[in-house]
Amino acid sequence: MSANTGILQSEKLTEYILETSVFPREPKILKELRDATASHPWGFMGTAPDAGQLMALLLKLLNAKKTIEAGVFTGYSLLLTALSIPDDGKPSNEGTFDFAFVDADKRNYWNYHERLVKRVKIGGLIIYDNTLWGGTVSWSEEDVPAPKRGVRQSTLTFNKAIASDSRIEISVASVGDGFTICRRAH
Ligand code: CA
Repeated sequence: MSANTGILQSEKLTEYILETSVFPREPKILKELRDATASHPWGFMGTAPDAGQLMALLLKLLNAKKTIEAGVFTGYSLLLTALSIPDDGKPSNEGTFDFAFVDADKRNYWNYHERLVKRVKIGGLIIYDNTLWGGTVSWSEEDVPAPKRGVRQSTLTFNKAIASDSRIEISVASVGDGFTICRRAH
């Protein structure tokens, strides 16, 4: 199974979704950035365009103005955020925020969570990327290639912890490589 089939583990279905609903609506500037980084050996680490489409919709639903990102691999998500928030909105590292996107070092997701959950406004969102780690979260460890095992283990621990965090409401969306969407409840 290849990393670029995403979480659906089906090349045909992934292609169908991308070609029918995502690519025709993707802003030209995002497409250019994606094309420019497609040949990068770690290109699969970037934000998947179907996940990006969901993120853009959520930013607009939330009318997010203050956003923060941890881990900017190709800048796709940062550019997408800039295109999706109002003109008076801005990415910021100060104070509280409406929306956070975390695509940083997977082993540190829980540390990010502890810090971010205190700074996101009540009703605001934190999204964690790659939380299904190529689908390997459901595999037996011996079937997982050795270089992926460490992060898989961190992901399993993180997913369990976040599922029992009463400060937030969650939904694991099976787009891209798995998007855990958290809303601060109180
Ligand atoms: Ca990612």
